[in-house]
Amino acid sequence: MTKLYFFYGAMNSGKTTRILQCAYNYEEQGMKPIIMKPKIDTKGSDYIVSRIGSKRKVDFLIENKMNIYDIIVEKYTNVDLLIVDEAQFLTERQVNQLMDVVIDLHIPVMCYGLRTDFKGNSFPGAKRLLEIAHELTEIKNICECGHKAMFNVRMIDGKVQTEGDSVAIDGEGKVTYTAACARCFRLKTHHKFDNDK
Ligand SMILES: [Zn+2]
Repeated sequence: MTKLYFFYGAMNSGKTTRILQCAYNYEEQGMKPIIMKPKIDTKGSDYIVSRIGSKRKVDFLIENKMNIYDIIVEKYTNVDLLIVDEAQFLTERQVNQLMDVVIDLHIPVMCYGLRTDFKGNSFPGAKRLLEIAHELTEIKNICECGHKAMFNVRMIDGKVQTEGDSVAIDGEGKVTYTAACARCFRLKTHHKFDNDK
């Protein structure tokens, strides 16, 4: 059965490496994978770059208003797999369009992305994927304390940030992220889950 997959994890969990490996495996079998990415991410322009050094050009950058189903129908033939990087930045409608790609075009869709932003809140695309994807797979990452990392801490020039937009724009300083478990996330960001409201 053709499925919509969501592989989710915190920052630096190796999502990009998996995407590159997956695309390579398909091509090695003589099949045609297409890689798309929402345009909102400024990290690597139209390239996806893994932390271990390999990179690949993205086939298509998706803008907010675009209909992904229409793009596949109009621009591509004989697609064996659609991979979406940074899928948390998709709109809810675009995730619904991906489900139509799966059901009507019989193309498996593998989405990779973050579950939550640096404030511990859901992204629209990730929220919808968690609701409707056929298969959810967590890509695990380890916090510095040794527990499973689930959250992302944003830093600008090494200073922890608790305010700002979901997408940080480089310019006011060097933006970095570290993955943290719930306890360390609360410790670093003073995030209130409930107990100390
Ligand atoms: Zn921790």
